[in-house]
Amino acid sequence: MQFLKSILDLVFPPRCEVCLSPNDKVICGGCAQKISFLKPSAFIHSVGEYDGVLKTAILKFKFKNKTGLAEPLGAFMVKYLSQNLDMNKVDFIVPVPLHSKKFLERGFNQSELLSHAISKHYNLPTVSGLLFRVKETNPQFELPRNERIKNVKGAFEVRGANLLRDRNILLVDDIYTTGSTVSECTKILKTNGAKNVHVLTLSRAYSI
Ligand SMILES: [Zn+2]
Repeated sequence: MQFLKSILDLVFPPRCEVCLSPNDKVICGGCAQKISFLKPSAFIHSVGEYDGVLKTAILKFKFKNKTGLAEPLGAFMVKYLSQNLDMNKVDFIVPVPLHSKKFLERGFNQSELLSHAISKHYNLPTVSGLLFRVKETNPQFELPRNERIKNVKGAFEVRGANLLRDRNILLVDDIYTTGSTVSECTKILKTNGAKNVHVLTLSRAYSI
């Protein structure tokens, strides 16, 4: 396998997925440095602005099937968490789910892959079979602000509420836009018994 990898590296030298310069890392050091962390607020945490390096990486990750980006992007989330949230306060991680149809289309849930990267680092479980998206929703960014809340209303469902009772959850998503998706998820997790829900998104979009 190592031999095959060497041959492949000769034919297709590994490149940074963002700037495309030859590099062994999926996101090179130069690109990584361009990401500046945002300041946290009480329960909402976003690593960086949905722009530049993060935006390019997220678009490739989600829409060009570059799942290898989950690991380095998850590492940014871990670094952010280590500076901004006491992870002893978290019992487990819940990724914002995709509707089953969207999941089949894409083949993966980007938030779930990011959660796994965080799980591995903190040795905390990612629990995916708890929160479900039962209503097909339009992508939030395609909608005017006032319709986004309506769009996600009743979109999520909890199955297995006993797992949630008095638990502290880290809810993970890729992009925070108006916050209507994560607040709808938070609401339903709390209604079903969760004690605290901390929200972590990889990026925060201010202008879409
Ligand atoms: Zn780069």
